[in-house]
Amino acid sequence: MNVPEIFGSLVFNDAMMKKYLPEQIYISLKNTALKGERLDPHIADEVAKGMRDWALSKGATHFTHWFQPMTGSTAEKHDSFVRPISESEITMEFSGKNLIAGEADASSFPSGGLRATFEARGYSAWDPTSPAFIKDKTLCIPTAFCSYRGESLDKKTPLLRSQEAIDRQARRLLKLFGIETRRVVANVGAEQEYFLIDDQVWSKRPDLLYCGRTLFGAMPPKGQDMDGHYYGQIKPRVHAFMQELDEELWKLGILANTEHNEVAPAQHELAPIYATVNIATDHNQLTMEMMKKIAARHGLACLLHEKPFKGVNGSGKHNNWSLSTAEGLNLLKPGKTPSQNALFLLILTGIIKAVDENQDLLRISVSSPGNDHRLGGNEAPPAILSIFLGSELENILEDIMAGETPEDRPRTRLNIGASVLPELPCDSTDRNRTSPFAFTGNKFEFRMPGSSCSIGCPNMIMNTIVAEALSSFSDVLEQAEDFQKALNKLIHDTLIRHRRIIYGGNNYAEQWREEALRRGLENFTNTVEALPHYTDEKNVRLFEKHGVLSAAEIASRQEVLLENYTKSLGVEALTFANLVRKDILPAVIGYQSLLAEEMKLKKEVYPSYEVEQELLSDVCKLTGTLYKQLKELEDATERAKEIEETLPAAEYARSVLFTKMEELRETVDTLETLLPRKMWPFPTYAEILYSVK
Ligand code: ADP
Ligand code: MG
Repeated sequence: MNVPEIFGSLVFNDAMMKKYLPEQIYISLKNTALKGERLDPHIADEVAKGMRDWALSKGATHFTHWFQPMTGSTAEKHDSFVRPISESEITMEFSGKNLIAGEADASSFPSGGLRATFEARGYSAWDPTSPAFIKDKTLCIPTAFCSYRGESLDKKTPLLRSQEAIDRQARRLLKLFGIETRRVVANVGAEQEYFLIDDQVWSKRPDLLYCGRTLFGAMPPKGQDMDGHYYGQIKPRVHAFMQELDEELWKLGILANTEHNEVAPAQHELAPIYATVNIATDHNQLTMEMMKKIAARHGLACLLHEKPFKGVNGSGKHNNWSLSTAEGLNLLKPGKTPSQNALFLLILTGIIKAVDENQDLLRISVSSPGNDHRLGGNEAPPAILSIFLGSELENILEDIMAGETPEDRPRTRLNIGASVLPELPCDSTDRNRTSPFAFTGNKFEFRMPGSSCSIGCPNMIMNTIVAEALSSFSDVLEQAEDFQKALNKLIHDTLIRHRRIIYGGNNYAEQWREEALRRGLENFTNTVEALPHYTDEKNVRLFEKHGVLSAAEIASRQEVLLENYTKSLGVEALTFANLVRKDILPAVIGYQSLLAEEMKLKKEVYPSYEVEQELLSDVCKLTGTLYKQLKELEDATERAKEIEETLPAAEYARSVLFTKMEELRETVDTLETLLPRKMWPFPTYAEILYSVK
């Protein structure tokens, strides 16, 4: 495989634009992309023509506006290039109008009340900052998706708006440090975790099929602790999958970089090299899609759910985030000169303030029914936000907060703007893997997002809250008479105010929960607790101020997410009840009959059957519980249907459906351990987790 040759071969990238577009059009389009602006409609026809010629040369037959509805996945509606010119002849056409804006029947996408049914049309508009690409012989045009009145119905539009906000505010602040730049961008590298299992086994587990996770399953005797799977040898079938995945991603211009086994059996990770945030978001969506598709080609199923197996490590998506200028200066990298260091410390302080003031928003940005099973387990960060900085940086901030360094402390006081920071190790060994938000040398790693999460929302939030912090800093510094003094005071005071969010200890420990409570940090243990805060006044003010989301748009997002929660739990409850009634209950009763038969037989030849009797008695008791819990769950799903209001419905799903499923599961799992292997109607955890040979 000639990697440089195939890399980006399915992307209408810079080289292809140069080749297929007239020079003036190329320059104009480049400017649009660099400035992050909308495309000038006057050049759209020419761009479309070039794009079509390129796409046809690659064998494409269709085009689609590829967008990311609020459900978090991607959507596309294919149209062919074919246009008749006579009865027997056709031509392949693609116009500027087709490129710039598409009309999609939006009624099948959630709008959270934004789009009344009589105006079912939504508009998708090309995002020229993200290049078009070809997938399945279809030219895909990355687009934003809006309602008739221009309200955003997708994950991309607010992300693009948040990029403008962070660009605006960061440039404003940089100016005070004498730095002029064309643009400040957020860069993101999303590490993607996933499970691979055999698809034959997968298809025998309707819970995995319909819900993405197992609703029951007893732990295998060989637990993951004994496995040594992490960074272990990659099995040949998995290796073949990874190779093909890399190849397909490279063709799409995605810098798939590292692949390795993860902690749990059958769990793996893929990390790309980071890119500008909106491209990274597109790429992560494509990566997830490709993972599923290519897995199927290898007789595998790719599970992207946050917690496919209870008691086994879940999957996350580490969102590595940094800010840089268009010229490549990383604003999260400690600099070499005092002035660069001062800027670094100021931005760091801004992020600390932003995270502390918006714990709720960051928590909301990763809320999903799947992630509720993961956050706060002993393998993933807790639902409580805190920042890990590493001891070196923490010591520096301590010194700043202490003001004058006490005599008995050997450290010299750091004079911001005048001294050089001590060298910070980029890959320090005390990196804390338990922290939800960790500084890792030149970027922050947000570890709360779940594996299936679109990174559009967390990054939209990151950009907006940091934009707000930087904006408040500029407000102060622009008015300062003595810049140096004002800067020192600003950093000092802000750190003092927000120091409670900094924590370097073990975030998995119970003591941290107590400590966090003492510090007054927020702890939303689940999606339904977190989501109502989306529309808190503070948040509406923030999003409106920076032009990222309007009050109506936030409310619609909240609505969609809550509905999604209720629907997911509804599907789980129905699936579970169905499997118990149709498969598990009959299997259990079958075993009872077998035992009873056995006892009857024995009675005639050998009148001792204590074992069978004891087993029968255990199984009978559990079956009684099983049936009772099943009926309760079925009743609860019926009652759930009657609740019309969004929030009460979600609350009911959480408090009743969720709890009833947990209770039922416990009984099912115990029965699984009692029944003979041959009589259990579903593949067990051991059979699933070790299904790939
Ligand atoms: P880990 O030890 O967590 O695997 P890596 O150093 O491998 O961390 O990086 C993880 C991800 O962070 C990769 O996707 C990488 O491209 C990305 N990354 C590296 N530098 C930056 C940066 N400055 N901004 C954003 N992401 C970055
Ligand atoms: Mg990581």
